[in-house]
Amino acid sequence: ENKFLSDLEIARNATLRPIEEIAERAGINVDALDRYGRFKAKIDPAKLRLPQGKDPGKIVLVSAMSPTPAGEGKSTTTVGLADSLARAGHRVMIALREPSLGPILGMKGGATGGGYSQVLPMDEINLHFTGDFHAITSANNALMALVDNHIFQGNELNIDPRRMTFKRVLDMNDRSLREVVIGLGGPAQGVPRQDGFDITVASEIMAVFCLASDLDDLRERLGRITFGYNYDRQPVTVADLGVQGALTLLLKDAIKPNLVQTIAGTPALVHGGPFANIAHGCNSLIATRTAQRLADFVVTEAGFGADLGAEKYMDIKARIADVAPSAVVVVATIRALKMQGGVPKDRLKDPDLEALAAGIENLKRHVHNVEKFGVTPVVAINKFATDTPEELDWLLAWCAREGVRAAVADVWGRGGGGDGGDELAAKVAEVVAAASPSDFRHLYPLSLPVEDKIRTIVQEIYGADGVEFSVPAIRRLADIRKNGWDRMPVCMAKTQYSFTDDASQLGAPKGFTVHVRELIPKTGAGFIVALTGAVMTMPGLPKEPAAMRMDVDEQGNPVGLF
Ligand code: ADP
Repeated sequence: ENKFLSDLEIARNATLRPIEEIAERAGINVDALDRYGRFKAKIDPAKLRLPQGKDPGKIVLVSAMSPTPAGEGKSTTTVGLADSLARAGHRVMIALREPSLGPILGMKGGATGGGYSQVLPMDEINLHFTGDFHAITSANNALMALVDNHIFQGNELNIDPRRMTFKRVLDMNDRSLREVVIGLGGPAQGVPRQDGFDITVASEIMAVFCLASDLDDLRERLGRITFGYNYDRQPVTVADLGVQGALTLLLKDAIKPNLVQTIAGTPALVHGGPFANIAHGCNSLIATRTAQRLADFVVTEAGFGADLGAEKYMDIKARIADVAPSAVVVVATIRALKMQGGVPKDRLKDPDLEALAAGIENLKRHVHNVEKFGVTPVVAINKFATDTPEELDWLLAWCAREGVRAAVADVWGRGGGGDGGDELAAKVAEVVAAASPSDFRHLYPLSLPVEDKIRTIVQEIYGADGVEFSVPAIRRLADIRKNGWDRMPVCMAKTQYSFTDDASQLGAPKGFTVHVRELIPKTGAGFIVALTGAVMTMPGLPKEPAAMRMDVDEQGNPVGLF
């Protein structure tokens, strides 16, 4: 058994097919393909020639219970499930996010799956890929350079440098850039003001990129971005500055979805990558829709637990386009259940049925939350080598008692191309076949006041008693009403480790309050970010960053990339 090989070693042993072959398998005509080397290509959706009358592919959304810091295997399950559906004869396409360098160099790792369920070439996808994040970072920072230049050159728009809401970005975990002062050095160096950096995956440009339906919509949304306020406290937008055209130009190639392949040869679109704790958490709408045009099944992922990525998928992405899921897969692991049951990190491998029973409350809340959207959940038990048969049987029996479909999936160890995900694929296909689009519903109507939208999410999804707004957040609520922004959905920014805004509260807590520290209207993306607890839009690196293990060997191959 090769189960002790690293993700990188397994990826290196795999045989990649030329990207033209994958494109052909996916039904993509060659003239819609822009090759980036032999194994990656961008697809121009406008040039796709497709058979008339094909129904859009059904969407399977992969989500999870509250994760451990290592991740519970959503990407792995997404890839493995898609391979298994393909193995069963379905026409399948994957839609995944692009990885960010922050977690890669830091702690959490990449976003290309694991074991025998990976998208390839994993090192290239995890590092600079086709340069999309560079383009997004550049568009964001071009905007800020143009804004500061405008202020320096006489400030015709009367921009108040003390009331900027937009920041510069980097695709890096770099806590020392959270708060900075710019423009120091005298009259020739610009106008001094307090500024800061966010990570690229938290930026509004990333959100706009991922929610735009085409190039025109991208330009429109970029123009609608509010980057600050003037001295009369009126919002100032990118269109006021007149640079939406330049930003669109910087993104014109990046906006085309990237085609790659799984180890088993299933076509995958990997495109866009907002985090799910501080942003909306799913791949680009253009990629999802392109996959729907090409395939009958689209397997896609929403980040972190179902309280974050899945809720935002349903209430943000599935509101602007017809992409409601026909099934939601909730990934659960024995180790995450034990962690939710209070077992310390170094003892997660020890068999412990009692801890499992204590932690099950967490999975239970996530599973029933999915039902609130009118979608049927399927629990995917992502099998680890350390899981005992007793633990797996206990979990299956619990799901049966709870009336929830479930299957053990060993797509990490055996690959979806093998038989590791057959049972899961069969159960998912059954749910998809029985699903009716008319059952789908959003959690709240857009007509609800913003504070009530937030209250609905924290009560219905997190299980909180209520919500408390800080004084600045209350002031911002008034501003939101005044500017007519109150019809936008909400994008919650919350820790992924707990249903509460405190990472240390495990299980399924009750009787708590969620604290909204700040509200940031994202008028281009079309949602209002609610920052809760201590969540940061620029993460930091841990004491032992993953970067310490990384290198390149004598042949130029990557080393230590998970
Ligand atoms: P998520 O998408 O939920 O963050 P990933 O699919 O990226 O999780 O997996 C996180 C890490 O855990 C990867 O390095 C992967 O190889 C590893 N992993 C996932 N599933 C398993 C498993 N069943 N056994 C061992 N390692 C696993």
